[in-house]
Amino acid sequence: MKILKSEIKRRREIREYLTVTHMFCILIMLFSLALSRDFFDLEKYETTYPRFLVFFAAGFVIFGLITLYNSKNCALEPGSKLSLIDLLYIGLPLAIAACTFFIADNNAFYIEAILLLPVIISASVMGKKAGVMIAAVGTVLIYLQNILTGISADFFMFLEGNVILIAVMFIVAWFIGAQTDLDKQHRLHLTKLASTDLLTGLYNYGYFQERITEYVQNASASNPLGLIMLDIDYFKHYNDIHGHQKGDLLISNIGDILNTKVAEAGFVSRYGGDEFVIVLPGTDSEGARKLAEDICITIKNEDFPGEEFQPEGRVTVSCGIAVCPTHARTTKDLIKYADQALYRAKNKDKNKVEMYFSVFDNLDVEGDEKELLNSIRTLVSVINAKDRYTYGHSERVTNHAVRLAERLGMPQEAIHFLGYAAFLHDIGKIEIDWEILNKVDPLNKKEWEMIQRHPEWGSDIVKAVEKLHPIVPVILHHHENYDGTGYPAGLKGEDIPILARIIRIADSYDAMISHRPYKKRLDASAALEEIKSNSGTQFDPELAAVFLEIIQEDIEAEEQRANCS
Ligand code: GH3
Ligand code: MG
Repeated sequence: MKILKSEIKRRREIREYLTVTHMFCILIMLFSLALSRDFFDLEKYETTYPRFLVFFAAGFVIFGLITLYNSKNCALEPGSKLSLIDLLYIGLPLAIAACTFFIADNNAFYIEAILLLPVIISASVMGKKAGVMIAAVGTVLIYLQNILTGISADFFMFLEGNVILIAVMFIVAWFIGAQTDLDKQHRLHLTKLASTDLLTGLYNYGYFQERITEYVQNASASNPLGLIMLDIDYFKHYNDIHGHQKGDLLISNIGDILNTKVAEAGFVSRYGGDEFVIVLPGTDSEGARKLAEDICITIKNEDFPGEEFQPEGRVTVSCGIAVCPTHARTTKDLIKYADQALYRAKNKDKNKVEMYFSVFDNLDVEGDEKELLNSIRTLVSVINAKDRYTYGHSERVTNHAVRLAERLGMPQEAIHFLGYAAFLHDIGKIEIDWEILNKVDPLNKKEWEMIQRHPEWGSDIVKAVEKLHPIVPVILHHHENYDGTGYPAGLKGEDIPILARIIRIADSYDAMISHRPYKKRLDASAALEEIKSNSGTQFDPELAAVFLEIIQEDIEAEEQRANCS
């Protein structure tokens, strides 16, 4: 940061020096022009006052333009293309100098020297080549003037008479131009250094942050911007076993793969540690998902040294995707949502691609309710942060619950509300202390009572949004058991709202397959057995049977995929 600040200061100082130098050059040229035409001659004109005014007004306008040009400093920026304004900026001083040179009384003062000034301006703005070119034009002009004024057309005589001036013009062009070129190269180098990650050679975090906002501003429904966040799975493990140097090599190799895969579709940056971001302008959700899946498969199939010691026997990565404007309209939200999707992928066994989704996106609310809903949404993310073992739990429960309802052929409206209820089912936990939610030891009676109150608190929170009233009883009763042993009301069988019975199964299943502070996760088959054995007591047996079918299909599909790859 310090280097950058000092570089910005250096640039500003150079611009100031250039502005002042160019102003002096122009001032000298204007004075020479005015003096050569006796512009201020008291004897020739009745009053000189308005002439001074015209002269200074012209001077001010030109000074303003010089300052404006140098503040933008287009031609000096490394990599920028020459524009018409740049050409005018060096062409006009040359034209003024040439006019002055031709119309002045040649014996009055060393008027040829005026041709040095456009050389200084061009060399200091555009470098050696431009400076030398203008010096050559100056030489031709002096030669032309020699011919026109009848001094001599002999080239050698002309050289003899003007050799010092011509040599000085070229030396000035060469020296000042070389300084300008070197400064440009230096800045190019610094810019590259400041935006490159030294380990992978990819763009770094700073470059990503600088460019992403620009891309977000240009994104629209017809020109979406895809963002993939990618993180190496079990990288700590790899580091621990093989050491940090091998870890560095793995990060670098994965960086190379990403760079090749993304190619012209966008750019890759190292976000930090073992995390990368891929920015894909003009790419929608499907395009981003395809690329992310392709990357996951390629990395899984690539042979990395020592990967046999990884928990899955291979080096794998997980990806989270968010798209602007489909999911987010601001840079902050886009990054946050891609990150949330990545955590969901990590939570779901890793080596996965997950797209951001939110049940709120389809809810048609307006005005005050929208604000309330946004607050509820924030509360859900607070719970996610508070209860770190259940990150992404709400989304996963929503997913399972909705799939079950769809398989049951429930009406669309019921599924719609089920989505909200499933997503918000734990919202009452906001009232519970972090220590209790993450406690490793068994809960005491008081703590247990507190946990049991979260359905009531949750339903109270949701009551505030009128559009969500249908889900209030669902949230209130999502911990009831089919046999009447649940809480808070001890409802039994069909007295429990069907949506609450569905969430009871989806919620329990996700709790079984997730890491919890007080127990290890079960694999999907063991979780199925658990649901089967509690069917009829904890769970509605008919719903549980359909749910088992869905999960069984998932397990089989997963096995088939594993065999294929
Ligand atoms: P997960 O599968 O959930 O991503 O777990 P993980 O083990 O990969 O852990 P996580 O992504 O949270 O942590 C990344 C680790 O990467 C933490 C740190 O030890 C290591 N790390 C971060 N930067 C570097 C680096 O530049 N070089 C090396 N060798 N290791 C790094
Ligand atoms: Mg990792």
